[in-house]
Amino acid sequence: MQTNIVANYREVEKRVCAAAERAGRDPKEIMLIAVSKTKPLSDIETLAAAGVMEFGENKPQELKEKYDTVSKPVHFHQIGHLQTNKIKYVIERAVMIHSVDSLHLAEAIEKEAEKRGVTADILIEVNEAGEETKFGVSREETIQLVRDISRLPHLRIHGLMTIAPFVDDPEENREVFRAMKQLSLDIKSEKIDNVDMSVLSMGMTNDFEVAIEEGATMVRVGTAIFGARDYEITV
Ligand SMILES: *Cc1c(COP(=O)(O)O)cnc(C)c1O
Repeated sequence: MQTNIVANYREVEKRVCAAAERAGRDPKEIMLIAVSKTKPLSDIETLAAAGVMEFGENKPQELKEKYDTVSKPVHFHQIGHLQTNKIKYVIERAVMIHSVDSLHLAEAIEKEAEKRGVTADILIEVNEAGEETKFGVSREETIQLVRDISRLPHLRIHGLMTIAPFVDDPEENREVFRAMKQLSLDIKSEKIDNVDMSVLSMGMTNDFEVAIEEGATMVRVGTAIFGARDYEITV
């Protein structure tokens, strides 16, 4: 089936605005990231030609290849799990690494960033729902991890990210999103040096409107824009 991805994107954009307005928020506070994983470069080019700037990838090598070949200066976000041996593909290419969930990974990014004389912008991935996904730090361990990572001079924490469970009714995830917002406020109130909590990356095709109502500042939407993916992705 031929999908009109530009029309889909505009439709999602409208829903983002409507959700923001329902919550009394300025839609400009919310960044829509088009999750282009598994999709061809031509899809990215089509959206980029329509002015779309923000794309999400979950495989570091795929991000690298797309970054290196795309014709416009679009931004790529590393949203999937990152192994230390793959850092080299995304550093200096990803505008934001959303999936930092251990000190070990943060230290490896620090090393690579220092070597290159750059600062890496990151989010801490929290496993708020405490289930299913293997990745993400637990809610209880998040503040300590933020403190530890804040001491690494070539990393800058901008906020939190979570992948909510896959549910039939997005309302089931409202509590997860609300708890994430609260956690981000709790960390913000600690006023930790070198840490800002301005970003809350949460919400996907099935639940981005609820996520926005609960405070998301970045939503990561794939299927609603690009159509179904050809194969199951393990995040
Ligand atoms: C694939 C993916 C998304 C997008 O999922 P959709 O349900 O297709 O919108 C968002 N975030 C992460 C981390 C993903 O891996």
